[in-house]
Parts: sequence; C-alpha cells; structure tokens
Amino acid sequence: REFIQSLPKAELHAHLNGCLPLSLLQDMASQYISDAAQTKIVEEGIAKLQKGIILDEIHDFFGLFPAIYALTSNTTNMRRATRAVLGQFLDGTKPWCSYLELRSTPRQTEEMTRKEYLHAVLDEVEQYPSHKAAFIVSLDRRMGVEELKECVDLACSLKSEGRRVVGIDLCGDPRAGDMKILEEYLDMAKTAGLLITLHIAETAENSYEETKQLLSYQPNRLGHATFLDDEAKTLVRESKMCIEICLSSNILCKTVPRLEDHHIRYYIQHDHPVVICTDDTLPFRTSLEGEYALLLALPPLGLGLTEVERPDLLPSFLSLMNSAVVSGLHARAGPVPESVI
Ligand code: IMP
Repeated sequence: REFIQSLPKAELHAHLNGCLPLSLLQDMASQYISDAAQTKIVEEGIAKLQKGIILDEIHDFFGLFPAIYALTSNTTNMRRATRAVLGQFLDGTKPWCSYLELRSTPRQTEEMTRKEYLHAVLDEVEQYPSHKAAFIVSLDRRMGVEELKECVDLACSLKSEGRRVVGIDLCGDPRAGDMKILEEYLDMAKTAGLLITLHIAETAENSYEETKQLLSYQPNRLGHATFLDDEAKTLVRESKMCIEICLSSNILCKTVPRLEDHHIRYYIQHDHPVVICTDDTLPFRTSLEGEYALLLALPPLGLGLTEVERPDLLPSFLSLMNSAVVSGLHARAGPVPESVI
C-alpha cells in the first residue's frame, strides 16, 4: 500500500457527480431535496449505492444519476460536491494523487444556469494551485446542437478569461446521439486552445464508423477505447493518443468480461501511453489506490510484482486487494490469484 501511495499519480478521468462521497450525498438528502416528487428517486438511489451496485449491462449504470442530480441541483450543493471530490483526491497527508483533472457536464436546472454551474465548480477547483487541479467541460452525447454550442461557448469564454478550463470531454450513455454533429464544436474548442478527450468505443454497440468519425476529430486522449478494430488501434498507436483506463468501471459495467481480458494488456505490450483512473468512485466503490492495486497485483496485466522488483511488498498488496474485496467491488473480479500470494 505504501508503495502505491509513493507512486506519482495523476487522475485524468473522474466524473464529478460520479465521485461524490456517499456520506455527503446522504447528508444532502437529509437537508435538501429540490422537489418532493424526487424524494423516492433519491431514497432508492442512495439505497442502491449503499448496497453496492450490480449491473446487468452498462446502460443500467446511467439510471443511477437522476438520484444524484436531484441533490446537486443548485450552486450551493454543487460547490459542496466539488469541494468534497477535490478533497477526496487531493487532501490529507497521503493524497490519492498529486494532480487531478476533474470533469463535469454543465447542467441547467430550475435553480441554476449552466454558466452558474461552471462558475460554482471552477471557484472550488481554483482553490488549488494549477499544478494540482484543473477542469474539463463534459459534453453529454444526448446534447443537441444548441446545448453543445452553449457548453462549448462557455468553455471557450471561461478559458479566455483565464479560468481553469483545460479541455472538452464527450461522455454519456454510449447508445445516445449522432457524433457527426460534434465536429464544428470541437473545432471551436481547439481554436480556443482547449484539449480534447473523448469517450470512445466504450461498448460493442458503438459502430466502427462512429469510432472512425471520433478519431477523425484528432482527440488528445481517449476514454476507455475498449472496442477498437485493428485500423483504429493502428491509428491510435501512431498518433500516441493516451488512453484513460478505468479497470473497475469496465468490469462492473461488463464491457470487459474479466480483468485478464482487459485491453490495457495490449497497450502495455505495445508501450502505448495509458493512465489509470477511477471514472466514478461512488458507484464503483473504488479509489485510485484500488485501481493501482488491480493493475499491479494481477500479473496477467503485464505488471507483475516481480517486474516492479518488490516481492517484499506482497503482503501489503494482498491486504490492499483484500480490503478492496471487503468494500464489495473486486470480489466480482474474481479471487486474488495464487501467483500473487
Ligand atoms: P457529471 O458530468 O459531473 O454530471 O458526472 C456524471 C456524468 O458523467 C453521467 O451522467 C454520465 O453522463 C457521465 N459518465 C460517468 N461515467 C461514465 C462512463 O463510464 N461512460 C460515459 N459517461 C459517463
């Protein structure tokens, strides 16, 4: 555990509303619900998150967010949420990482505009120095052209005002949307100096045509990139686009059947840049340490402990893995392999 803690780590793929501490959500639910009709959604959502989610498929995952959104629907709660998530990753004597690029989708509610949402989040992000925290504006695949334009316009003008917006992300339910409409808005963002990261080929349902289209926008990084065909893999390798890897997320959403089948192996074998990330710490009950433990403790991933030459750390890895099992997550990824013990 100390070894993992000592590694320099950057978290580059964390969704703000997916990373709230459960205790904060419970606290918000006890104090505030924007609309009585939402009470049931919130109670059921919190109960599910408390119990630990078991998903039949990735699409069920997106059904968890209405409960969270019912609570983070005004700027006061968005500020609280952002502060808690930043603190979770960056504060304390043993912070999870030394640099966090947090991402979030600007949401308009009855109580806040998208601009107010972004100001609330950025006010908190900017409490940290720029080498520690930055912000990526997420575009949801369900957005139509007006919403896309509003979000990208906001991101560009905030950047030009010197606010800590560093990039644009594309996220949301992989079934939704027509990715052809994105080009114009991603071009606007690039012209303003923003970098681009795209969730791509997250499920087998994402067509190769769509993947090709998204790659033609020349993103700087890719989220998941689970189902790339050979042509796409070659292009990604040639252009050295860093892949944001979220091990627990992929296993729990069942887009990767077992850890030993994970596409990270391919990229490690080809010496391609990857970054280990949590995605959504709340539903996946994970931490950055937990994700690194999965990476390092499972030799099939290509980074066995002999390769890091610290066999003396085996017992600590085992205990870290076991604590992950206790938290209800990695049990479903199978037992700790004999080779590690
Ligand atoms: P937010 O952008 O801060 O509201 O974070 C939650 C949102 O992130 C969800 O509603 C999804 O749109 C998106 N998201 C979280 N995890 C994933 C994922 O694994 N794939 C695609 N989108 C995701």
